[in-house]
Amino acid sequence: MARTFEFHGGVYPPERKQRSQGPVRHARLPGRVVLRLDQHAGRPALATVAVGDSVKVGTPIARRDGMISAALHASISGQVTQVDRHTITIDGDGVDTWQRLTPLEWRTANAEQLLTRLEQSGVVGLGGAGFPAHIKARVGERQRIDTLVVNAAECEPYITVDDLTLQQYALDVLEGAQLIASLCGAKQIVVGIEDNKTEAISALHQAVAGSQPLSVTVSVIATRYPSGGERQLIKTLLNRDVPDKGLPADVGVLCQNPGTLLAALRSVRDGEPLIERLVTLTGEAIADPGNRWVRIGTPMATLLDEAGLNRSVLHQLVEGGPMMGTPLADLEGVVTKTTNCLIAATRDELPPAPPESPCIRCGACEEVCPANLLPQQLHWYARAQDDAKLAHYRLFDCIECNACSYVCPSHIPLVADYRHAKTRLRHQRLETAKAEHAKHRFEWRQARLAREEAEKQARRQARRAKQTTQQTDSQATSPQADLRSLRIAQTAAKAAVRKAEKNLARAAQQDPQQPHDDLEIQLATAQENLQAAEARLAEAREAGEPQETP
Ligand code: SF4
Ligand code: SF4
Repeated sequence: MARTFEFHGGVYPPERKQRSQGPVRHARLPGRVVLRLDQHAGRPALATVAVGDSVKVGTPIARRDGMISAALHASISGQVTQVDRHTITIDGDGVDTWQRLTPLEWRTANAEQLLTRLEQSGVVGLGGAGFPAHIKARVGERQRIDTLVVNAAECEPYITVDDLTLQQYALDVLEGAQLIASLCGAKQIVVGIEDNKTEAISALHQAVAGSQPLSVTVSVIATRYPSGGERQLIKTLLNRDVPDKGLPADVGVLCQNPGTLLAALRSVRDGEPLIERLVTLTGEAIADPGNRWVRIGTPMATLLDEAGLNRSVLHQLVEGGPMMGTPLADLEGVVTKTTNCLIAATRDELPPAPPESPCIRCGACEEVCPANLLPQQLHWYARAQDDAKLAHYRLFDCIECNACSYVCPSHIPLVADYRHAKTRLRHQRLETAKAEHAKHRFEWRQARLAREEAEKQARRQARRAKQTTQQTDSQATSPQADLRSLRIAQTAAKAAVRKAEKNLARAAQQDPQQPHDDLEIQLATAQENLQAAEARLAEAREAGEPQETP
């Protein structure tokens, strides 16, 4: 067995995973789906359909807006009945006719074809914030990646989506891992899985033998929450420490979860856009729990009713797990690309939190914090809105795992305090960045317009001089010099685009919840400048000026 290492802290909440074991099934085809345009990290997608349009399963209905965004596809066939700023509604025809992309053989297709396919298919990370898979897979262009980690730890109580994915589709998951490893340049694949998933471990061991070309190691780790946190898993599997404010790529690692790898493979091999996902339906308030393939946009109420929801005993509906998930106020939500679990809990199962009492400075929160933070101090400074101290105590390194709140004898909702503080600080940062960027963009645009005007004048004068005088050899070198300078400007503009892309991809991965409009604007400006530089170069070439010197 592969050697494993320890991360600091962690807790052992009741697992409650048994209830949703059993074979994966398909949920009934919904009569109506409501697809949210903001169901991924980054900017919401832009609708490309109108009311009355007929669609098939897989028809593109919204395109990505900016670099960090994702396309969206119809998840049932039928007619578009509503389009607004936030959602697209489709009423189904019950026929389920499909529109697939042309299947690709990933071993022979080139990287650009595969990345374009992931982008066209709207594949995003299915285990977390819905980060676009094609951007994440491009990491190898910016940093050296040696290991692809398949994050199958699934440490949150109740959720069994990755467990069942591996039990039933282990071969495909590993093929998806080989595909993504080929894109990011990884030299090995390591699957990290907790030791409470015995059937999935056995399916993986069988599948590993046939997985080519990279070697795959299955690393079985002790069950402890939150072993599935990226930093914690990388420490446990590889004994590498992701630096503060860093990314797994900084230590040569790309992490993906099994569901994302399966979706990536299906988009390439089968030409299937991301139109459905596996969802764990569980909790004591439903009679028929288990994992279902669910079309994106399915109303939660429809899904839970089909699973035998008893509304009279339902106390709390949670999207995600009980530690990191989101309690929902009602049944009005819809399944999105990031909905991995719905817990319909009774009062006995997830009782209301006892009233908060003052901190007794017991230090229990610090002992369990997997990020080596001081939760007690963060709590004080979050409530005091002391931003300097929050930065000093590394608020943004908190992964919101809830382990501190879980052990706090005073029942202080610590994570709620941290989330509130983060939201406030993100808003402040965004406003500052927007103001700064608007100023820079204005100045940059003014300078560019002045430069373009000067260049036009110079070209006009050169042409006039050429027509009226016999040019000497030395005069004829001037347009060549002009072309050279335009080529240099084009190269610089390309480099600026690459840099802006890198900055945006990194910032968005570090904090997917933060809006990155400022960096998207910076990238758009750099792309605009590149287009202008290319147009000027083409214009100069077309003007019939002398051939470029190599
Ligand atoms: S666990 Fe709760 S009571 Fe104990 S130090 Fe932390 S915040 Fe204070
Ligand atoms: S929620 Fe944040 S502060 Fe609390 S234990 Fe987890 S990482 Fe540490």
